[in-house]
Amino acid sequence: MKVTKTTNKKVKPDFNKLGFGKYMSDHMLVMDYENGAWKEPEIAPYGDFSIDPATQILHYGQGLFEGLKAYKTKDGRITLFRPRDNFLRMNDGAERLCMPKLDVETALEGLFELVKLEKDWIPTDAGTSLYVRPTMYCSNVFLGVKAGTAYRFFIAVCPVGAYYANGLEPTRIFIEDFYVRSSIGGTGAIKCPGNYAASLIGQEKAHKLGYDQALWLDAKDKKYIEEVGSMNIFFVIDDAVVTPELTGSILPGITRDSVLKLLKKDAYKTQERRVSVDELIAAQRSGSLKEMFGAGTAAVISPVGEFAYKDETFSVGGGKMGKITSYLYDKLTGIQTGRLPDEFGWVVEVK
Ligand SMILES: *Cc1c(COP(=O)(O)O)cnc(C)c1O
Repeated sequence: MKVTKTTNKKVKPDFNKLGFGKYMSDHMLVMDYENGAWKEPEIAPYGDFSIDPATQILHYGQGLFEGLKAYKTKDGRITLFRPRDNFLRMNDGAERLCMPKLDVETALEGLFELVKLEKDWIPTDAGTSLYVRPTMYCSNVFLGVKAGTAYRFFIAVCPVGAYYANGLEPTRIFIEDFYVRSSIGGTGAIKCPGNYAASLIGQEKAHKLGYDQALWLDAKDKKYIEEVGSMNIFFVIDDAVVTPELTGSILPGITRDSVLKLLKKDAYKTQERRVSVDELIAAQRSGSLKEMFGAGTAAVISPVGEFAYKDETFSVGGGKMGKITSYLYDKLTGIQTGRLPDEFGWVVEVK
């Protein structure tokens, strides 16, 4: 792999004040697709792309992205969490958006090289990591609506702190009953930028009403709970941990899958099924809704202390983080950072 190192290394930010997604590292990986094939990936100094105003992605949005994290363990090993699953998911998205599939092994090798080169950018404090953003977009210069023939795949990395400024404080979420994020047959199950564009208005509405996040409902009946839009959602109802089943409009989160596998291994009762807002409210009223939390790479596990639907608000677990939520946060971050053993083969060491 061709590696061109920068001659002008950046001054690193204060690793105690990282925030999320603000400081890009010194290098990136770039791989172009032309004439029916991917070219060799290259690592180059991080920098601007020059984009013709007629580039397809700017107009018709043929694009995909992924998000995963790299860690440095106490004993100095560099690890990634389930990286293959991200590229497999990107390939599912590529199929849906008529884009070329990646060779997963090549993408993984490129990722490993980049992370090794950027190892000094990996923060080590609790809650911090190196966030990895693989992206693919159509680079054809042409204002016609059709699937492109030229694509660019790149990986950029940035050190990140906790996703939410107030850390593991329970969040408050607003159930959106007008706008929808995605529908069955649409693109909700893939990570494409358009899904996020469509969700911003719900996010802004939630913020204006004093909530942290919007919780989306299904597009057809506006009755069944889907997800938060960057996180999948879980409920502890009586003794069962319940999450909406993957219907085609929900993003199949790798954290969601990890949570289900961890719970099953530790003999918790899990259910993947439809959950209606009515059921959720009834469970809250009867006291059987014990906990609620979101699961996604960026925040890992995020407790929910309150939800609102129409004009009513409902408290969950007395507004405090519940036992299962806290167990999952500890277990997942423990496995990811090498503090706890990985019984699932999820952690990949970069050597
Ligand atoms: C990325 C994402 C998630 C979380 O997926 P992970 O693989 O766990 O990071 C959930 N919902 C949406 C819409 C997403 O884009």
